[in-house]
Amino acid sequence: MTTANSLYDLASYGLPSEAELEKLAARYFPELTPFESEASGADLKTYAPKALGDYEKESAYVSKPSRYGAVGARNIDSIRADFPILNQRLGANQLVWFDNAATTQKPQSVIDRLSYFYAYENSNIHRAAHDLAARATDAYEEARLKTARFLGAPSAESIAFVRGSTEGINLVARSFVKPKLKEGDEIVLTVLEHHANIVPWQIIAQETGALLRVAPVDESGQIILSQYAKLFNSRTKFAAFTHVSNALGTIVPIEALVSIAHSYGVKTLIDAAQSVSHIPLNVAALDADFLVFSGHKIYAPTGIGALYGKRELLEEADVYQGGGNMIADVTFERTIYQKPPAKFEAGTGSIADAAGLGAALDYVSSIGLENIFAYEHALLEYGARELKTVRGLRLIGTADHKTSILSFVIDGFSNERVGKFLNSKGIAVRSGHHCAQPALRNFGLEGSVRPSIAFYNTFEEIDYLIESLRELTRTF
Ligand code: PMP
Repeated sequence: MTTANSLYDLASYGLPSEAELEKLAARYFPELTPFESEASGADLKTYAPKALGDYEKESAYVSKPSRYGAVGARNIDSIRADFPILNQRLGANQLVWFDNAATTQKPQSVIDRLSYFYAYENSNIHRAAHDLAARATDAYEEARLKTARFLGAPSAESIAFVRGSTEGINLVARSFVKPKLKEGDEIVLTVLEHHANIVPWQIIAQETGALLRVAPVDESGQIILSQYAKLFNSRTKFAAFTHVSNALGTIVPIEALVSIAHSYGVKTLIDAAQSVSHIPLNVAALDADFLVFSGHKIYAPTGIGALYGKRELLEEADVYQGGGNMIADVTFERTIYQKPPAKFEAGTGSIADAAGLGAALDYVSSIGLENIFAYEHALLEYGARELKTVRGLRLIGTADHKTSILSFVIDGFSNERVGKFLNSKGIAVRSGHHCAQPALRNFGLEGSVRPSIAFYNTFEEIDYLIESLRELTRTF
């Protein structure tokens, strides 16, 4: 048997027996015949995409009316039906996707946009070449415009497409900050950063003799603003910070951090990887210098993301990679570069994925980020309250301002064991260090279990998570 969550493996972790799992499956999914795929000998069937309508027949969640049934004007069940991947079982269990901070699932409109591109528009993007090139160029540039509007950027020219947040941060570190650094200069970070917003700065600091200064957090996981301000001095050359901590869910008061940095004449980079899908952003109102996000965290494909930069700063920055697209003229003696953003887009970009990003931003905008935030916040508060009732469970990250992330540890259970147990129930969560080791070590931890929420999650799924954790702590 290759499916049904590899029950044989589960036994080796001391987890429930097959018979116990069948019993549980019968309890949570009464309409299902457990392990029908095994009985029919067609294991892969459980992974085959199902018609959207099947979801309602099969799911224990959707068939119950949700206690909080709408995100803005959209009914939660209809939202879930937009995401075909949610409509599947892992073995006997309905998939519950609580790994949204790692990546989000894709709505049908994004999947369709990719198919449409490859069916009707596929070409490299040199407009003058032929009709398909013009279509592909339009698709790519329209996505840039949508991204600019979504971020409140003054123009499409202030958006460079990158692979994701990581590449955007590396680009700013190498092309804008490093040329300005000399020995003894300082870059201000915070303890909450994802490794993607630590390592690029560390590399350029090592290369130049500059130093990293790191802002601390209080016991709730919030930046201590008075301490933050104290890190700035005449040697400070740049400040980079996350908007939302991927390990704790803290919403950092970025307006305050930008204005403290600006009061010292220091430019900033906002890592919006974890906020872009939850909190409306307006780079102009924020007076943001640079901001990055990854498409895959906001229901768009992997391999595409955006760097926003103030026009004059993008012009001031050095080129990042050399190659096609970023040049205006090349001889063996010298190259004249394109203006931003083309200057930063060497080689063939992820054209279809950019179009997919545009479709994802349209989708999110059609529901409304304010509505999304409100619904997710209600889920988060409910989840936090209920999780605290699980024996031995400690929530990590309890700031007043939080979004989407419920990090915890349970006394006597390794994070890996909790993650595997939840997986045996069809619940996908992340367990480990979440690429934010300093943030967790600040709380004396090497890792945590991290359910993370999106607006297609439901209160019933939270209940199922809590029941599963209760069962784990009761049974073992
Ligand atoms: N910053 C934060 C806060 C993140 O959560 C992540 C992804 N987990 C990144 C940066 C890096 O994003 P990507 O891997 O898409 O480049």
